Amino acid sequence: MLELYEAPLPELQAASSFVRKSLNGDRIWYNRNFHIEPSNICAHRCRFCSYRRDDAAQPGAWSMEPEDILPYCEAKFEPGMTEIHIVGSVHPGRPFSYYEGIVRQVKEFARQKETPGRSIAVKAYTAVEIDDMCRYNRLDLEDCLQRLRAAGLDTMPGGGAEIFSPHIRRQICPDKCTGERWLEIHRAAHTLLGIPTNCTMLFGHIESRADRIDHLLALRELQDETGGFNAFIPLKFRSQGNELSGLGEVSREEVLRTFAIARLALDNISHIKAYWPMLGRDLALEAMSWGADDLDGTLNDSTKIYSLAGAEEQHPTLSVSELQEKSAAAGWKAVERDSFYKIIS
Ligand code: SF4
Repeated sequence: MLELYEAPLPELQAASSFVRKSLNGDRIWYNRNFHIEPSNICAHRCRFCSYRRDDAAQPGAWSMEPEDILPYCEAKFEPGMTEIHIVGSVHPGRPFSYYEGIVRQVKEFARQKETPGRSIAVKAYTAVEIDDMCRYNRLDLEDCLQRLRAAGLDTMPGGGAEIFSPHIRRQICPDKCTGERWLEIHRAAHTLLGIPTNCTMLFGHIESRADRIDHLLALRELQDETGGFNAFIPLKFRSQGNELSGLGEVSREEVLRTFAIARLALDNISHIKAYWPMLGRDLALEAMSWGADDLDGTLNDSTKIYSLAGAEEQHPTLSVSELQEKSAAAGWKAVERDSFYKIIS
């Protein structure tokens, strides 16, 4: 698999496109969604992170109180949306009931806004956030997941995976759970709760290409076991405003090669997402010819994670018409989906 990084580009593109087309035809999937990022005050110190703040006194810090959640949802929701995505920091002072309460409030809000054929999924908390909820609140994983599920959690995002290699993890995110724990939490979501989740890989920092391949193969193995991953999202390291800024960023070619190799390595995961707020809309669209098939959603200017890291999209918002027009202009067919890849017509 590692030798694919040296393969001639036309052959690599052709092979990844073959797998992409056999799984997804000429579709580009998208959804209508918004994010809630409850806080950026974080007990962890990941060196690649441009989002975290030490405490409320630091410029740019925020932390939503429970009573802020519904007004925020009202401000960001647009009729027809089918997903609310909740992900934030590991706040040092919030009990489990805070996170559980957010999911409960958001699920209730979602139920009130649903229209026929458009149910709204609550996609909440990375495995890292869940691990810290367990640790800080002395909860076992099963209890934690069951309580979140009872509160309204429908699916989980794939963040926090970074790179599973312990040696790299120690250097870039020493406070985070191990790769094994990340996989354990997703395995539990798939098998205990019976819900699908996503998975990610942060690449283009200090990891080697071999570390990326090992990471992909670990995800492949779990997918063979549970079948619970909906989509894999390769996340390119963005270099502004963090401790690893001096590294710069990988080239467009390295990004596209990584997408193509991911498509080949993970042919047991149906979807590869090119998350447009992180890549920028042009490169995300280009990735569709290198194995990707999903752009993510409309977002309505609701995420700051990549804008704080220097992404081109400082207020990420895409309209449905823009998604459709850009996809058609590039020769693809934009298809709206829900969080579980059911077509919405
Ligand atoms: S990546 Fe997440 S856990 Fe790490 S410092 Fe940033 S907000 Fe905290």
